[in-house]
Amino acid sequence: PVLRVAIMGLGSYGTRVADAMQASQKAKLVGVISGTPSKVQAWQTKYNIPEKNCYNYENFDNIKNNPDIDAVYVITPNALHHDQVIRVAKAGKHAICEKPMALTAREGQEMVDACKKANVQLLVGYRMHFEPKTLEIVRMRKDGELGKILFFQGLSGFRIGDPTQWRLNKQLAGGGAMMDIGIYSINGARYMTGEEPIWVTAEETKTDPVKFKEGVDETIQFQMGFPSGAVASCLSTYSMNNLDRFFLNGTNGYAELQPSTGYGPIKGRTHKGELTQPHNTHQTVQMDEMAGIILEGKRPIIPVDGEEGVRDLKIIDAIYAAVKTGKKVTL
Ligand code: NAD
Repeated sequence: PVLRVAIMGLGSYGTRVADAMQASQKAKLVGVISGTPSKVQAWQTKYNIPEKNCYNYENFDNIKNNPDIDAVYVITPNALHHDQVIRVAKAGKHAICEKPMALTAREGQEMVDACKKANVQLLVGYRMHFEPKTLEIVRMRKDGELGKILFFQGLSGFRIGDPTQWRLNKQLAGGGAMMDIGIYSINGARYMTGEEPIWVTAEETKTDPVKFKEGVDETIQFQMGFPSGAVASCLSTYSMNNLDRFFLNGTNGYAELQPSTGYGPIKGRTHKGELTQPHNTHQTVQMDEMAGIILEGKRPIIPVDGEEGVRDLKIIDAIYAAVKTGKKVTL
């Protein structure tokens, strides 16, 4: 069986996913949801999408009467994910949602609950969870090859351009760099160490308060503590290009990825040598694997379900609280 997917939000990442899906063995792009008729027309032509599988933001609840669509992949600005995923669930379709899945853990939990109630699956677009070099480090850590894990460093950033884009609008983005790119270090700290943090501390710095308005973080430095005693030290920023590095160290050795979460190829090495796993387009692998999860009940090595998305949002909530109060926040 093939997972028949409609993409909601035909922007830059939606286009990347659509292109990558053309090479997928198990997922097929069959529909679109968009507010822009000219984009719908262009996608219909480019991807051979029938008129009956095209919807807009007013009428997409009708997708419930369409037996030719199994899942909707929500790739819109962050603040819209919550309501859109809940509408997809109510229409009886599986939801795949881009990161961050919502703006707060409370919102994320509502999405998880809505999908459970509707008996549909909810997956979050964590493409790194299927990336071979990442998975090799996770395997080494699980097999004890690094010894007892004591430290993770995650550096996630890029220099953001156009000041009018939604990513710099608190209403649509829900925050700043943390929501968009810092989340990779949070998520990475969790899958690299294999633990959930029990506390966070965080400090914000802002060099450009005109571009980065109230509620839109430019740079946040944050720390996390884990039950084993391991600690993580991370940086999230919208002001430094080519900042994309993970470093994990245990009592016996290290693993590092740089770049660690870009579109690839990911590069990495450990105390045992270079990582040589092949590069495949992340979004193609992700869609194949997600089709396996939804249609065949496959279990991914690193979870990509809604609960996984909520775990990251709980940490983001705590980081913002720590920035505000200057205090250590217990999770
Ligand atoms: P984008 O601006 O290129 O596209 C967003 C799309 O949403 C546009 O087509 C826009 O027309 C549409 N849209 C619908 N309603 C809108 C509204 N009310 N206001 C503004 N736009 C509206 O953004 P993008 O880079 O494609 O990001 C979309 C989502 O994908 C974000 O949640 C982002 O975090 C996520 N993303 C994930 C990755 C990844 O690697 N997993 C990479 C890039 C983006």
